[in-house]
Amino acid sequence: MSFIPFGKPSFDEEEIAAVADVLRSGWVTTAARTLEFQKLFAEYTGSQYALALSSCTAGLFLALKCLGVGEGDEVIVPPLTFAATANVVVHCGARPVFADVEAATGLLDPAAFMRAITPKTRAVIPVHLYGLPVSTEISKIAAQHEIPVVGDCAHATETRRDGIHVAKEARIAAFSFYATKNLAVGEGGMIVTDSEELFEKASVLSLHGMSRAAFDRYSEKGFKRYEILEAGYKFNMPDMNAALGIEQLKRIDRHLARRNEIWKRYDEAFKDLRFLRPPAVPKGVVHARHLYTLRTPGSDRDQIIAKLQQDGIGSAVHFGALHLEPFYRNLLGTRRGDFPNAEAISDSTFSIPLTPYLSDEEVGRVIQAVSAL
Ligand SMILES: *Cc1c(COP(=O)(O)O)cnc(C)c1O
Repeated sequence: MSFIPFGKPSFDEEEIAAVADVLRSGWVTTAARTLEFQKLFAEYTGSQYALALSSCTAGLFLALKCLGVGEGDEVIVPPLTFAATANVVVHCGARPVFADVEAATGLLDPAAFMRAITPKTRAVIPVHLYGLPVSTEISKIAAQHEIPVVGDCAHATETRRDGIHVAKEARIAAFSFYATKNLAVGEGGMIVTDSEELFEKASVLSLHGMSRAAFDRYSEKGFKRYEILEAGYKFNMPDMNAALGIEQLKRIDRHLARRNEIWKRYDEAFKDLRFLRPPAVPKGVVHARHLYTLRTPGSDRDQIIAKLQQDGIGSAVHFGALHLEPFYRNLLGTRRGDFPNAEAISDSTFSIPLTPYLSDEEVGRVIQAVSAL
């Protein structure tokens, strides 16, 4: 029996052809495909502006930079997330301040967020973990304290509340198109915003600090003299990735429907097991179904992962609590006990395969293996 990897993208012939077309066109870096992908993604999220980038990490970093986050500033982040969410704060020279997550959902806890606010707080990065949106209280509290929200939408490509994309609850939101994400182009990301000023700043910073004239190189307008306005970065998305992104976006509803099907089968099959299943989805919310995570009531999580591996099923931990990682322990002096909800989830959680490319038979094998644990 073949191994079922935890996350494996799969591309059809049309997607492969779209990339091949770019290769044949002779222009493989940022050009027409990237501009088109940006336009389509802005429409998909209902945003005024979208900027395609090399990663979500680049997007989160640029968002903070554009908001002026720097030395002496604090940015509030949950400890239960991928390292990038906190790392970008450090890259800006600012200090990440962890605020614990809700025990039931793993999402940033509004009360903990409120307690973490100080006069130095310059931004908050809520993470829509696993595809479920954070409480609406987060943006309310942020607005009351005039703290800009930078949305970490790495898991939330499809997440909506009452029909409105959750990215709209942030000043700037960043998406990931990494290989295992719901929309996968290998490596890539996107930021969206309704602020023209932030979009312009981010555009310039994303490409060496070159003035807008430089972007005309990508169009029929041809070369124009540009100026270097800042020591910018190199975060642009190449057209090959954008071509794949356009194709993946066409498939997003179909893929989400398949994710929902698998999710329902898992939920039904695991009803009577000892594991805690993912929390219910509030009314009006579209869950992106990015990760199906179970929690063991025992202390046997690592054995569970090893056992699944033996049975030919890949699984993963989302996530190890960041405040217990050596770097953050050293930087912030954090330790076990500081964020009990994040720690409890971090110690007990395991994610099982959930991609639209799983066959019914493979889903059956995952169910069998989990049921036998
Ligand atoms: C994947 C991920 C990121 C980083 O995405 P990249 O595109 O790999 O930079 C950030 N935050 C969360 C929660 C993620 O899961």
